[in-house]
Amino acid sequence: MSADSEFDLIARYFDRPVPPGMLGVGDDCALLPLSPGCELAVSTDMLVQGQHFLSDVDPRSLGHKALAVNLSDLAAMGARPLACTLALSLPGIDHPWLQGFSDGFHALAEKSRCPLVGGDTTHNPDGIVISVTVMGEVRRAHALRRSGAREGDDIWLSGSLGAAYVALLLRQGYLPADAARLQASCKAMDWPVPRLHLGRYLGSVAHAAIDLSDGLLQDLGHILEQSHCGAELQLDALPADPSLEGLEEAVRREAILGGGDVYELCFTAPPLRREQIYALQQRLGVPLTRVGTIVRGAGVRVLDAHGDEIPITLRGFDHFSRATSPSPTPTGGPLP
Ligand code: ADP
Ligand code: MG
Repeated sequence: MSADSEFDLIARYFDRPVPPGMLGVGDDCALLPLSPGCELAVSTDMLVQGQHFLSDVDPRSLGHKALAVNLSDLAAMGARPLACTLALSLPGIDHPWLQGFSDGFHALAEKSRCPLVGGDTTHNPDGIVISVTVMGEVRRAHALRRSGAREGDDIWLSGSLGAAYVALLLRQGYLPADAARLQASCKAMDWPVPRLHLGRYLGSVAHAAIDLSDGLLQDLGHILEQSHCGAELQLDALPADPSLEGLEEAVRREAILGGGDVYELCFTAPPLRREQIYALQQRLGVPLTRVGTIVRGAGVRVLDAHGDEIPITLRGFDHFSRATSPSPTPTGGPLP
């Protein structure tokens, strides 16, 4: 990208005021003050055109989502956002696209108090690549690590499951066109809301947490591996999104258990915390559902209403398991 256009573009779309005490865009590095007693929590996520978003996606929602998926990682760690950086590779300068993208990005950055403090801007003829890094702070004792789950913990979920997966199936034509269902499900896919407040409150309540970007079974599986335990889930307790109503049972199960792109939190906490967690639900207005138990052993067992195990063969999304896929194909979906 030529020097003039690159700096003009940064000034116009990305350079924004930052809070006092912080140094933002314009120097070689950004400078961020940390609160006493806190550690820096850092996470990066990339979005690649054709892999993570469709070419015709609304740039405003893309700007929102690029930051939201990163903030969701801070939420899952129990961290408070401090600031973010944005590395952007573009095939050319498209002003309406940049305006929409940066508006969506900055709107969520402001709302989440996570100012953009730096980044990099490059040219890539092959398509758009977006890489966001978020930085947050958390007290060490309150960091929600994947390794913290203990036998006997309850397993909880925020929000509902499956909507983003259903929106993707509809958009890709794997489900018959259904305008009402798409309308009901696309918000989860395009405008995910990171559970930042919940995550911070959970820091002193939960043992472990993760967000469900790769789907419930896969992401809960990460907690189990790192905590050296197993889990039993009650299928009927899992909070299906209302947009799944009327779908064939097999598709519903895939959406609930395997569908990714879910920026809800899955966390474990000892049963003596139940009342506190229900109080949190009231206070934050976020639905919290108890869906199972951490047990001795390994892996997830999904149980029906009689306590019998349901055989499950789904997995969540793994980018290299379908390296040849040209578009975001959900693993476990009803592929043609
Ligand atoms: P350097 O050569 O030191 O890497 P650059 O010329 O790449 O600096 O960037 C100039 C300034 O603009 C830096 O402060 C950098 O962090 C910031 N910047 C570049 N691209 C972006 C972007 N997409 N979003 C936010 N800040 C950016
Ligand atoms: Mg640079």
